[in-house]
Amino acid sequence: MNIAIVGAGVCGVTTAHELLNDGHAVTVYEKRGTPAEEASFAPAGLVSTAWALAWAGPELRLHAPWAAPGPGVRWRAGLDAAAWHWWRRWRREQHRRGNDTLLALRELIDHGLERQIDLTRELDLDHDRSDDMLVLLSDAREAAGAQTTIDRLRGLGLELRPVSADEARTLEPALAPSAPLHSAVHLRGPAVANCREWTMLMRHRVARLGGALRLRTSVSALRPDGGGWRLSTSDGSDERFDAVVMCAGVGAEDLFAGLGLPAPWTVLWSHSLSAGMREPMDAPVSAVLDLKSRVAITRLGQRVRASGGTDLGGSAAGTDPASVRRLGQVLSHWFPAAARFSGPQASVQSWRGALVVSNDGLPAIGPSRLPGLWLNLAHGEAGWAMACGAARRLSDAITRPTSGAELAPFAPSRLGL
Ligand SMILES: Cc1cc2nc3c(=O)[nH]c(=O)nc-3n(C[C@H](O)[C@H](O)[C@H](O)COP(=O)(O)OP(=O)(O)OC[C@H]3O[C@@H](n4cnc5c(N)ncnc54)[C@H](O)[C@@H]3O)c2cc1C
Repeated sequence: MNIAIVGAGVCGVTTAHELLNDGHAVTVYEKRGTPAEEASFAPAGLVSTAWALAWAGPELRLHAPWAAPGPGVRWRAGLDAAAWHWWRRWRREQHRRGNDTLLALRELIDHGLERQIDLTRELDLDHDRSDDMLVLLSDAREAAGAQTTIDRLRGLGLELRPVSADEARTLEPALAPSAPLHSAVHLRGPAVANCREWTMLMRHRVARLGGALRLRTSVSALRPDGGGWRLSTSDGSDERFDAVVMCAGVGAEDLFAGLGLPAPWTVLWSHSLSAGMREPMDAPVSAVLDLKSRVAITRLGQRVRASGGTDLGGSAAGTDPASVRRLGQVLSHWFPAAARFSGPQASVQSWRGALVVSNDGLPAIGPSRLPGLWLNLAHGEAGWAMACGAARRLSDAITRPTSGAELAPFAPSRLGL
């Protein structure tokens, strides 16, 4: 088939790669000058399955608009009734999420991680990645609270184990001795990979396999055309394809409006702060999540990154200084000498990105109700962890119509799409 992909974030480019591997002709449209310029630009890089299933999201509580950023969701949506409905529905769905859904998510992420490891080996890809992470529990109350989650994840067959503070400090020797630590949860297996770097590597693979990447080309409209689709773009072109895969992240809403499709999600904003590593021995070996603040700290090559905080609503542009300051504080609390924040060699980058979170918190991966329009959207806080699995499964479903059972829990139809 001749397939168009809208969006060259990690999901679009990885999906393009899988479709090319399966023998399709692929054109990727991207409105920005390079791939991974939006949500895939500087995420924490966590890919751990246990993290994604249990600890990727914010705490299920709201902070007041005037409050300092915290572990929950800071309400900055004013009197927006739709945002309020989203919040109530989403929170209810988090409480209700059953083991079947968690197992399906686990399958999606694990399948993707296996695929990522295989591709890395087969294609000799050189990218930042590391195994194992710690969830840090500062006091006895936090440790007791985490026990239910640990039991549930173990029940799903995930490899994780509670460790003492001493053992945690052996696994992550640069943790500050002065930072109070009660214990930790050790999550085994792939934990960190560099999302933007992966997207760039896949971009080159896409070109090698004959895929076309049309940068600085915004798709302005889609319309059905005799069993296929016609795409109008900002450069005035109007091309026909057999199928379209929508990987446009936040940008999908405008295109859906023209098709009469709803946008059954909300956009949350989150921050990351990256800085050059001062001294490798003072930096994390892999990654930690500070459960109290819900801030993740990861090592990505020669850089250290702190990431977290969730705002619902607020202005669309610029970083929030209080959120960035908090990331710096949590990073310095746990790894005081890890990052170089000042001086001529400092290369500090603060970033705010969008999390597209569906009404039930699960992604939309599969066929839409409009024939030939496929979706790979709304992966929330763990879109990078899901990207390789979603791309592989989606390509299977497009290529072999009898496959796709694994994607049933993520069917766009459940969201009216
Ligand atoms: C601070 C932060 C930390 C995060 N940490 C993690 C983490 O540790 N682990 C994890 O798994 N996930 C994490 N995430 C989530 C993850 O980054 C995203 O889920 C993922 O990058 C989404 O990828 P995407 O390809 O769907 O979207 P995007 O990367 O946003 O790609 C969509 C692309 O579509 C393009 N586009 C939009 N509209 C059009 C149009 N009309 N025409 C052409 N192009 C268009 C955009 O320019 C963009 O490039 C984090 C997110 C944030 C913000």
